[in-house]
Amino acid sequence: MPGGVNSPVRAFGSVDRQPIFIAKGNGSKICDIDGNEYIDYVCSWGALILGHSHPAVVKAVQAAAKKGTSFGAPTIAETALCEMICGAFDSIDKLRLVSSGTEAVMTAVRLAHAFTGRDYILKMSGCYHGHSDSMLVSAGSGSAQFSKPLCPGVPKSLSSLTLVADFNDIDSAARAFKKYKKKIAGCIIEPVAANMGVVLPKPGYLRSLRKLCDENKALLVFDEVITGFRLCFGGAQKIFKVRPDLTCLGKIIGGGVPCAAVGGREDIMNMLAPAGAVYQAGTLSGNPLATAAAIATLNIIKDKRFYAGLEEKSQMLHTGLLDAAKKASVPLTINRIGSLLSYFFTKKQVGNFDDAKSANAKLFKAFFAGMLKNGIYLAPSPFEAMFISAAHSKKDIAKTVFAAQNTFKRLEYP
Ligand SMILES: *Cc1c(COP(=O)(O)O)cnc(C)c1O
Repeated sequence: MPGGVNSPVRAFGSVDRQPIFIAKGNGSKICDIDGNEYIDYVCSWGALILGHSHPAVVKAVQAAAKKGTSFGAPTIAETALCEMICGAFDSIDKLRLVSSGTEAVMTAVRLAHAFTGRDYILKMSGCYHGHSDSMLVSAGSGSAQFSKPLCPGVPKSLSSLTLVADFNDIDSAARAFKKYKKKIAGCIIEPVAANMGVVLPKPGYLRSLRKLCDENKALLVFDEVITGFRLCFGGAQKIFKVRPDLTCLGKIIGGGVPCAAVGGREDIMNMLAPAGAVYQAGTLSGNPLATAAAIATLNIIKDKRFYAGLEEKSQMLHTGLLDAAKKASVPLTINRIGSLLSYFFTKKQVGNFDDAKSANAKLFKAFFAGMLKNGIYLAPSPFEAMFISAAHSKKDIAKTVFAAQNTFKRLEYP
């Protein structure tokens, strides 16, 4: 395997270490192949909102497997899952199930191009939307709207069709729309950014973006692959009261089995084959194991009290970490919404990608190492979030705060 892994961040490159290999997971804990146990705050990058091997999910997947793991033909479970998701999201009239967030975004972008007949797409710096060509671009130097391939292999002619604006800066998006008048098919954004660390939208920002898209007859696409069922049963769009035209979902909706989705306005979704001419397909889309895990997960988290429980524990962790940092005089800023939290080693507020990048990487590395030694498994990159699951107990949180106190005390910084 190139780099020894099947997805780059797993290689622990940003923390200069060898990754631990996981043998098993249960609830809030994972065990490595040497028998060490860790409290896990990666939780499969947020997919496991119920924690590892939740009994209801395991049971549902086992029962589904017994009946056949894949048919490549319609099943009732797909209908049931789509009904649940459409019911949770006001903006979703119709839905297409796919197997990864990357696919969901690819399809949303293609639909935006097809619906508007325009070739450009606008994204925000620091937002991650999977690894399709059009989304693997970064802001070019100088003007914010120009972009360049994020890596070799993305043709310049493709990356030039993706414009990049600054997150939380409505003026930079407005400049792009002005400069590329009637050329921008849509704007895609993580309504709460969670791939540059967690960055909340400024008050009114998402609403202004909605307005900007409307004025320019462009589509607004919310990539809620992380936020979708993380913040509430209905996503960031419900919390911030902004209705996108298309929504991408993933991670939690598979309950830890590959499953994602793109959904939205009926007139747009009807353009997808076979209803319409925009081609999109998937051999394993709506796979029985995935739909079983998804339905089992959503059935548990649809309970109103579910998110209140997560909030309480997340708040505990938030104040615990802040207090510990303060006591040790470590510069720390925490951004959090519900069970989505990230910490930055800086005194500054973090409102965009540049702010996030300005945090102290050395402190992050040392903190990561210290926490791991104390049995706490954090994301091995400063640009990823901490995910609190329903399986994390108050005792887990207290242990984590205690580990942070110990680690902060030993941190060396200028
Ligand atoms: C993880 C993620 C994706 C990509 O999903 P995959 O299933 O890894 O392809 C897309 N958008 C956001 C916001 C994500 O966090």
